[in-house]
Amino acid sequence: MPLSLYNTATRKIEPFKPKDEHHVRVYACGPTPYNYAHIGNMKAYVVEDIILRAMRFLGYKIVHVMNLTDIDDKTIRDSQKTGESLRDFTQRYTDAFFEDTDRLGIIRPDVVERISDAIPEMIAITQKLLDTGYAYLAEDGSVYYRIKSFRRYGEFAHIDVSEMKDGVRVSNDEYEKESVADFALWKAYDPDADGENTWDAEFVIDGEHRTVPGRPGWHIECSALNEKHFHSEIDLHLGGIDHIFPHHQNEIAQTEAYTGRQFSRCWSHGGHLLVENKKMAKSAGNFHTLRDILSKYPEADSGLVARAFRLMILETRYRDNFNFTFERIDKTMETVRSLDELLRRMARYEASGSAVRREFREDMQSRITRFVESLENDISTPEAVALLHETATTINTGMDRREFSMPEMESLADFLRTMDSVFAIFDWTTMETADVPEEVKALVSARDEARKSKNYTEADRLRDEIDALGYQLVDDGRKTYAQKK
Ligand code: AMP
Ligand code: ZN
Repeated sequence: MPLSLYNTATRKIEPFKPKDEHHVRVYACGPTPYNYAHIGNMKAYVVEDIILRAMRFLGYKIVHVMNLTDIDDKTIRDSQKTGESLRDFTQRYTDAFFEDTDRLGIIRPDVVERISDAIPEMIAITQKLLDTGYAYLAEDGSVYYRIKSFRRYGEFAHIDVSEMKDGVRVSNDEYEKESVADFALWKAYDPDADGENTWDAEFVIDGEHRTVPGRPGWHIECSALNEKHFHSEIDLHLGGIDHIFPHHQNEIAQTEAYTGRQFSRCWSHGGHLLVENKKMAKSAGNFHTLRDILSKYPEADSGLVARAFRLMILETRYRDNFNFTFERIDKTMETVRSLDELLRRMARYEASGSAVRREFREDMQSRITRFVESLENDISTPEAVALLHETATTINTGMDRREFSMPEMESLADFLRTMDSVFAIFDWTTMETADVPEEVKALVSARDEARKSKNYTEADRLRDEIDALGYQLVDDGRKTYAQKK
């Protein structure tokens, strides 16, 4: 059975058919780096990571491009408040963003590009839309997209624009369905709001050369990056459901008017993270950052909280909304602890014999098939997580009875590793450090603390002490741990 995915464009689950399985072109809308991302944003990036990990596991070769919305009403407004340049200001929050995604085990995209580095592409697309009548320069000095000129406008987002008056315009990047209107491709320079953040676009309008100072609108950036990296033709476009309208509807209108062909073969949208049934959002004031959550659990290893957050997301189907509560994260942390304990037990288990029983082999095969099928079924992670729990129980019970041989234990560990290539919730250092004495582990934690407080002399001294006890430090990207030399 091939991979089936829910396609927002058709509102149906369909076989996923990239043009080339060895070069699957994926675009994901990236963050607006004007502050720390909240865990609702992070849910969107975890969901995307799970979808792409599942696709890689199923054999697809992915090329994943993501933008950074560094030019935006909010980045400009807040950089001016701090007196920093737009680049320095957004770089700070971009670094914080990737610190969070690394903590959450999210694989970084192959290409991450600031949209301020794709201005020529935005101008070129806007020029072509002006030439073909899809865009016009308005009296306010901005260039707008004329939605009436795109016959299928509204089809993707399921909105009816037939009753709409011509020439109604909206210049904000974000707006509700009720405000559907011609939207800005290039916004005229506003000296009060934009300060030094202005770019000169050279347009030819009705045969006349015009210099239009200003900055790009939000939607055109993603069309521009898709043109730059994929010639405006991709296999999968990712984002949160709040992006269906206006953002993705507008990306489609721009790109398809520009090229005359289909932009993305499939569109997947992640559901929202809610708080008391309301979408978590900066503007609603009901948000927590990952940093807030970590600081609520000072005694817990930060990796544990991050892994619990991932597991919570995996327990829900990616396109469903789910309610975040602290009770839920507490409960999920307990589950993650029990998975760590499972690995610890497996590392210490003394196997009986070396035979691989036939019923064991058949059982393993059926588990692998179930795992593959759960992913092929629109990436049904709740099914895959149920299989993980069932397998954990089987392993624990089998260990109680000492019924597994060494090769059987190895294939069970391999199966857990296989599942974890998609889940990324296990701490494999638990297995690798099961035999490391508490004394050495305490030295590793002390060294982490010393490094955090930039006391490098003390950190080096602790490393020597660990070394003298016969252990070496290993860094797996998420965590440093000690291993016998
Ligand atoms: P923004 O910076 O608002 O464009 O959001 C960045 C990403 O986070 C987008 O993919 C949004 O769809 C997603 N997002 C924002 N709020 C939430 C939420 N409460 N739950 C899930 N995803 C969200
Ligand atoms: Zn986008």
